[in-house]
Amino acid sequence: MKKISSVQSFQKQCLNLKKQGEKLAIVPTMGALHEGHLSLIRIAKKNSTKVILTIFVNPLQFGPKEDLDKYPRTLTKDLKLAKREGVDLIFCPQIEDLYDENFQTYVDVEKITHKLCGKSRPGHFRGVTTIVMKLFMLSQADVGVFGKKDYQQYRVISQMVKDLNLPIKIIGAPIKREKSGLALSSRNQYLSSSESQAALVLSQALKLLKNLIQEGEKNISQLKRRIRTHISKEDLVNIDYIEILDSESLEPIEKYRSKKTLMALAVFVGKTRLIDNVVV
Ligand code: AMP
Repeated sequence: MKKISSVQSFQKQCLNLKKQGEKLAIVPTMGALHEGHLSLIRIAKKNSTKVILTIFVNPLQFGPKEDLDKYPRTLTKDLKLAKREGVDLIFCPQIEDLYDENFQTYVDVEKITHKLCGKSRPGHFRGVTTIVMKLFMLSQADVGVFGKKDYQQYRVISQMVKDLNLPIKIIGAPIKREKSGLALSSRNQYLSSSESQAALVLSQALKLLKNLIQEGEKNISQLKRRIRTHISKEDLVNIDYIEILDSESLEPIEKYRSKKTLMALAVFVGKTRLIDNVVV
């Protein structure tokens, strides 16, 4: 596995691989790798001949009051895991390599970013699409793998690729969970043991939704009400949003539609913001 920090050498290495006829898959991450990230690498391997992993805690996607400084950074461990998974190229740039002081160009996807996490985290998706576009341009990757854990992010990136006719295929990877049901996230390490316990209310809510639908409830307002009531019972949890939407457009719907209905949840457990979702 080759580790690269310089932008120029990353671009050159990727170009060389392309010239040799390799099919490149890129997996962008912010590091602190866990089994969720590793599952993306495995999907990337199946869909390419060379896998590029990027590790960069992107300041552009953090709000001024968010956890940029305390975000977990575990590079030595990450390198070991990436090597074990058979990553071919790992790109770990510094902030100033990607954004110099005169940086002034951004990629902004509109409608689909104005809801859910986009509403609660202004500027977040602009930061995500800008860095992802830079990584796509530098690597010229053929495939990009993104987790459905960040479902809106996966849809936003897919929209950007479609709108800008980018020559890359986006693959959405299923959510990896702990046995308890909690979706794996680098931010789970912020949770105390009582908070971890309280956080289970998220995956419980996803199950409750499935059960309610199976029992025949199709009215979206009713479903949201039942989910809100369930989550509100957990004292340590404050709801940011509960939305049930069309899974493609992320537009509101009135009635449940089979396999096209997304429930997206965002809550604060103590100070930690967690998200989860399901398409039913
Ligand atoms: P992050 O490092 O949190 O920015 O995540 C990097 C990539 O890993 C994103 O595409 C995430 O959606 C994906 N990811 C994070 N957690 C999970 C998970 N539990 N299951 C599947 N993919 C995940």
